[in-house]
Amino acid sequence: MTEFHYSVDADGVATITWDVPGKAMNVMTVAGLKELEAHVDSALADETVKGVILTSGKADFAGGMDLNVLSQDRDAVGENPAQAIFDWIMSTHQLFRKIERAGMDPKTLKGGKPFVTAMPGTAMGIGLELPLATHRIFAADNPRAKIGLPEIMIGLFPGGGGTTRLAFKLGAMAASPYLLEGKQLSPAKAKSGGLIDEVVPADALLARAKDWVLNARDADLVKPWDAKGYKVPGGAPYHPSGFMTFVGASVMVHANTWGVYPAAKALLSAVYEGLQVPFDTALRIEARYFTQLLLNPSSQAMTRSLFVNKQALEKGANRPEAPDQRVKKLGVLGAGMMGAGIAYVSANVGMEVVLIDAKQEAAEKGKAYSSGLLDKGIKRGKVTEAKKTEVLDRITPTTDYAALEGCDMVIEAVFEDPQVKAEVTAKAEAVIAKDAIFATNTSTLPISDLAQASDRPDQFIGIHFFSPVDKMLLVEIIKGRETGDRAVAKALDYVRQIRKTPIVVNDARFFYANRCIIPYINEGMRLVKEGVAPPLVDNAARLLGFPVGPLQLVDETSLDLGAKIAKATKAAMGNEYPDAAVDEVVFWMVDQGRLGRKSKAGFFDYDEAGKRLGYWKGLSDKYPRAEDQPDLSEVQHRLMMAQVLEAVRALEAGVLTDIREGDVGAILGWGFAPWSGGPFSWLDMLGAARAVEICDDLKARHGKRFEAPQMLRDMAARRETFYKRAAAAAA
Ligand code: NAD
Repeated sequence: MTEFHYSVDADGVATITWDVPGKAMNVMTVAGLKELEAHVDSALADETVKGVILTSGKADFAGGMDLNVLSQDRDAVGENPAQAIFDWIMSTHQLFRKIERAGMDPKTLKGGKPFVTAMPGTAMGIGLELPLATHRIFAADNPRAKIGLPEIMIGLFPGGGGTTRLAFKLGAMAASPYLLEGKQLSPAKAKSGGLIDEVVPADALLARAKDWVLNARDADLVKPWDAKGYKVPGGAPYHPSGFMTFVGASVMVHANTWGVYPAAKALLSAVYEGLQVPFDTALRIEARYFTQLLLNPSSQAMTRSLFVNKQALEKGANRPEAPDQRVKKLGVLGAGMMGAGIAYVSANVGMEVVLIDAKQEAAEKGKAYSSGLLDKGIKRGKVTEAKKTEVLDRITPTTDYAALEGCDMVIEAVFEDPQVKAEVTAKAEAVIAKDAIFATNTSTLPISDLAQASDRPDQFIGIHFFSPVDKMLLVEIIKGRETGDRAVAKALDYVRQIRKTPIVVNDARFFYANRCIIPYINEGMRLVKEGVAPPLVDNAARLLGFPVGPLQLVDETSLDLGAKIAKATKAAMGNEYPDAAVDEVVFWMVDQGRLGRKSKAGFFDYDEAGKRLGYWKGLSDKYPRAEDQPDLSEVQHRLMMAQVLEAVRALEAGVLTDIREGDVGAILGWGFAPWSGGPFSWLDMLGAARAVEICDDLKARHGKRFEAPQMLRDMAARRETFYKRAAAAAA
């Protein structure tokens, strides 16, 4: 397969064109690097070649490294994986360094051949690290282009020399938004940030690059760090100002990550150590930390869930065969919090939306929600007035069901009441076409029961959004007993249109996400009831990598909602209901009027503006702190097992059918410790045998909710992991 093409024009300018066949976006592969090196060698060896332009045959330059390679099982790398990975990284450094030194005399720094990058569009990850090794970067003024190093978001850092080059070029402080936060920029912003050199009209891109190549002088090719006496902007680590930068950065990283993300620490170490030594040594240091990271199970799991598998699910890994089911006209029933959000995300990507509520004011208010969000976007410079008008024009607020005519899908988000839902289902189905799909956004009612109100249950499905709809990235698609393939394909195509990530699960109480979140929250409240200090409960969760602890989470979602769900669950489960102990806390809080943030009173006290002040003292009056506080790890085991065991039970019961969905859904749905890659990845890291041991211990002291599922016991006996098991099943 040819990924890079090489040609030389009459003026002696060589062009290396990156164009991976069969892909919309270039990604770097191991084979691609070899091809690139061969072309670089040809250009350097050919005396008639004056310089080289690196460009792309596609609309964009490159999306980054092929992460399928990086996320592969490390066992496959051979007997000494660390050495093999390190050698491979160093060979990439050597290639990029060869480009950077461009055949110049190492002493006089003269006689090199200019290498420039001409990028037509997006350049991310190694797609920017490679250009950073060239002598000048030209970007087309493409409004859709994104330029940046997003590796940190998926558990890695830029390991193709980008970390070291950017730190040497900009200094640690100025480089940190790109390295530590993975900021992605427009070409204009990338130029003002110092990542690239010139932004030029798209049609002048190659001509401008060629002009520069033909006019470059020796001095233009010498990178500042290769010249004598170079001082890093902002100061090296032992310089007084550089010292301050690193103190601040360490604090910032720790405050944001609670120490659980290996990539942030490794990145900081690579920069701190790298800036104290010559450039080539710094690259070796970067390679060591990158090797360490690639071998770290957390980074592997993060890359697998947050990139490889997330992308696979978005592309329809579990989509049944069916023709294109994209939604053109959507009906939304109920213009409350959820309906308004659903209308916004749908109209925003071009769908016609009919937004229905019982009263015209309510429907209008639902539409006004979009207006508010678009205004915010305008303030931040992300939305234009024209776009706002366009989006709002697509939303028709009404009380008239006849307006649903022509809708190919309807999503209902009316009150959580089976009777109200049945009524609106019948009213909508009386108007919409026979082949239209009807979806419910219920969060607690069984889909198969609601489907009884439909005269076409095979076209009835659950599409469960999370709140707030415009921010949350996950959508849970729920198949009822009779839901057919076309409905699933429709829901998946719709979720793809609104650019969210779908998981497909079977119908069961609380589906998947809420099924796992509720025991997490409940375990937190149980701990409080036992007299465990509330800060210990929430901080134990933060130290596990959860964005918020369980008590803070209940305050956000509200205690009256908890009480409502508890009552409904108890009514449905009867004597099997397991959470009576928790209800005591919930109902008591509700009685005290402490409903959470919305009432400015919950487990926390709040100021008038709704800012959290501290834990409410009345809580420790009611549930006095126990003399003996449990170990941190005991609290963590309880909080973690409460969720992951539920995930395993969901898999065992066939609610989940794909562990990738279980992992990706957990991270995007409720912020499950992203560093772990999700509940199944976390269990794989821990090992089934150790997990069973912890469960047995917890069960003996806290009861049968910690009973290890049989699946986990079997896996322990067979020394299996979830991902090996899934791979074997797939094979
Ligand atoms: P909400 O009370 O904010 O909105 C419900 C809306 O439905 C109201 O505007 C109401 O006027 C309207 N409505 C009621 N009966 C109607 C009828 N017969 N015809 C037309 N409109 C009618 O509630 P919400 O929080 O938006 O929740 C709606 C649904 O979404 C519920 O099923 C809920 O379980 C589910 N859900 C909620 C959340 C959440 O976090 N709030 C998350 C996921 C799913």
